[in-house]
Amino acid sequence: MDLFKELGERGHEQVSFFHDSDSGLKGLVAIHNTVLGPALGGCRMWNYENETEALVDVLRLSKGMTYKAAIAGLNLGGGKAVIIGNSKTQKTENLFRSFGRFVEGLGGRYITAEDVGTSIRDMEHVRMETDYVTGISQALGGSGDPSPVTAYGVFVGIKASVKERLNRVDLDGLKVSIQGLGHVGMYLCEYLHKEGVELFVTDIDQALMGQAVDNFGATPVDPDGIYEVEVDVYAPCALGATVNPDTIDKLKCTIIAGAANNQLIENNFGGELKKRNILYAPDYAINAGGLINVSNELEGYNQERAFSQAEGIYETLMEIFHRSDNEGISTNEASDRQAEDRIKKIGELKSFYLPYKKSFKIRNA
Ligand code: NAD
Repeated sequence: MDLFKELGERGHEQVSFFHDSDSGLKGLVAIHNTVLGPALGGCRMWNYENETEALVDVLRLSKGMTYKAAIAGLNLGGGKAVIIGNSKTQKTENLFRSFGRFVEGLGGRYITAEDVGTSIRDMEHVRMETDYVTGISQALGGSGDPSPVTAYGVFVGIKASVKERLNRVDLDGLKVSIQGLGHVGMYLCEYLHKEGVELFVTDIDQALMGQAVDNFGATPVDPDGIYEVEVDVYAPCALGATVNPDTIDKLKCTIIAGAANNQLIENNFGGELKKRNILYAPDYAINAGGLINVSNELEGYNQERAFSQAEGIYETLMEIFHRSDNEGISTNEASDRQAEDRIKKIGELKSFYLPYKKSFKIRNA
């Protein structure tokens, strides 16, 4: 790979490679863009086939974080870390403390957090070596599980989508299908049930299905059958890439609005949804509640403030929908343009000298 050409095309500022033979750490941090603030993004631990695969993943994921933070209105940039290794067999205290020391060495340009293959416990080890870590447990003064705030943001985003497409302000009597009843999906069921929504749910875990049926009167659906249920809203809350060539023509919904990351198998599927008159709430805009939650921890966590910030997802989506209509583009394209515009505008604002500049504060810093 021609690394600098790749960084240029993707717009990255920095990639750092970390190696520590004592702990076995092989890690990469990619900092995509820090115009809005320090780059924040989780640390993924994955058994990559080779180093190029790890590099491509960290470049892709860090760029996604830039857009997510920008669209959520946060003063944060985009970054991500990957640790190459098996998260089931190769985790040690030393590995994460060593990673923490390298993060400390970046001097606050990158703030790490939990991600696929890492846990709150791992982040507690990271925190022994650096303050540039967020998403730690409430017992240690952190923000804990972000899922309630993520689910609330998705709930608010469903309301915005319903207003836009069905011109309704309430959800009473609407039908919503939820794919995945994990941390986010189950909270989402609760919020929607309270508003009088009729729920159709699926999960590969039968116990979770039973819980949703008992607590919210939901109708259980087979995992493969979820795409064909006739509903107002389909909320993907399990895996990515569920809007793909096999599913798109099965969909019988008016709106797609859910928590899962990377819902479209390829970006051009946003245009395919528009052609089919299905309103798509871009995943990284509607599921930003999790990022909003951890970002709050950086200034002293307050859950009420995190929930209230997540309410902003309503207006953000409305702006995206209007831009999509006005410019005749898909909603995911409109969302990318909104995010890029914000980075550009704030960048211009910062381009002139201020004698006293409010700097980003990190706990204990
Ligand atoms: P989770 O692992 O707690 O829940 C996912 C659920 O999906 C599990 O119950 C699992 O059994 C189920 N599932 C897996 N494969 C399935 C299939 N084929 N059909 C139906 N169900 C299936 O995850 P989560 O924290 O609830 O997150 C859900 C999604 O939202 C993920 O894509 C995640 O990346 C994204 N997300 C989560 C947060 C957050 O705050 N937790 C924030 C942003 C984005």
